Amino acid sequence: MTQPTSATATSAATSSSSSGPSRAVMDTYARLNVVFERGEGSWLISTEGERYLDFGSGIAVNLLGHAHPKLVEALTEQAKKLWHTSNLYRVAGQERLAERLCAATFADRVFFCNSGAEAVEGAIKLTRRYHHVSGRPERYRLITFKGAFHGRTLATIAAAGNEKYLDGFGPQMPGFDVLPVGDIAAVEAAIGPETAGILIEPVQGEGGIRVIPVEFLRQLRELCDRHGLLLVFDEVQCGMGRTGKLFAHEWAGITPDVMAIAKGIGGGFPVGAFLATEEAARGLAPGTHGSTFGGNPLAMAVGNAVLDVVLEPGFLEGVQKTANRFKQELARLKDELPDVIEEIRGAGLLMGLRLKPPVADVVKACTEEKLLAVSAGENVLRLLPPLNISESELTEGLARLSRALRRFSTSQS
Ligand SMILES: *Cc1c(COP(=O)(O)O)cnc(C)c1O
Repeated sequence: MTQPTSATATSAATSSSSSGPSRAVMDTYARLNVVFERGEGSWLISTEGERYLDFGSGIAVNLLGHAHPKLVEALTEQAKKLWHTSNLYRVAGQERLAERLCAATFADRVFFCNSGAEAVEGAIKLTRRYHHVSGRPERYRLITFKGAFHGRTLATIAAAGNEKYLDGFGPQMPGFDVLPVGDIAAVEAAIGPETAGILIEPVQGEGGIRVIPVEFLRQLRELCDRHGLLLVFDEVQCGMGRTGKLFAHEWAGITPDVMAIAKGIGGGFPVGAFLATEEAARGLAPGTHGSTFGGNPLAMAVGNAVLDVVLEPGFLEGVQKTANRFKQELARLKDELPDVIEEIRGAGLLMGLRLKPPVADVVKACTEEKLLAVSAGENVLRLLPPLNISESELTEGLARLSRALRRFSTSQS
């Protein structure tokens, strides 16, 4: 076989973008037929030159929008020096980011990986291993919750227990007891001699932007303390400033023993991590867990730059201010369009509109209005603008959203 010349490679890419998706990519996503060429802050520009306002943020990943100058600088400066060394050696950026994450949270120790599923998977392993080294190796089960999403690995699909993601993938990995959210008596009744911990998303993202009541989170903390279990939070989507606090559980005034993070922490570069208290992390000695790519110098340079911005004095207050206005405007829209919007849900800039018309149709209408939004479970339209979106961009996005939603209303023109 000869290598394609760069000219044929370019023309192939161009023709596949204008004539529909390439068959060479596996068919695992229902993609919209648009290709983006570059991003500028809250905007994405398609290969056709059209500008879309991005209220999806790459599913809560681009938390500072696109091509943020500080992230571009951090990435390019690091790219000139060193990309990857493996974890056979110390990585300065890892030590710095871990120290800073610990200083800003409940945690004492951090492990870096590359994605959300890996972070949750690692948190599950840590939880099992903690009991193993604590003389209770029989404790390996985690209590988890209906409507959750924890990723697509075999352990994380079993943890969430969603039939849609389990179907056809063989025997379900054992060790998870999936319960309804909110029923603390059922949680207590489910705790047995094999229970190791409780795993929950403080705000369920994928499942339909369901905010877990802070009272329930506090009750889980209390149960874990009473039964010697680890409390594990999956803040892959709701963490990193999304709700207006650095982490969503801060609203409940309690802390977990373990926390998985990813998505926003890399601002678009793949970074994941799990954080734990000294006590919870005691099972993970050298050789027990690892990752080839996890925490490489490029990823850590970007992660540190994201944290620089998010931890700037006033940044999270700004997110809360934007979020308050967003919520008010969405409520007004609901009052105007009761035959389209059934319910407003969410926290901070992680908002959801539970809709009457099919959410896929509304996502399409938004795209036609050049507004990007994401669907979630329970027929919810997920709205996740960048955390640093300007007031005028928010206004523009709401106008586009209103136009898209009005198409489904019979009472309005
Ligand atoms: C997206 C997500 C994951 C999985 O992250 P990946 O990077 O896709 O593996 C896990 N948990 C939650 C809460 C998520 O939103």
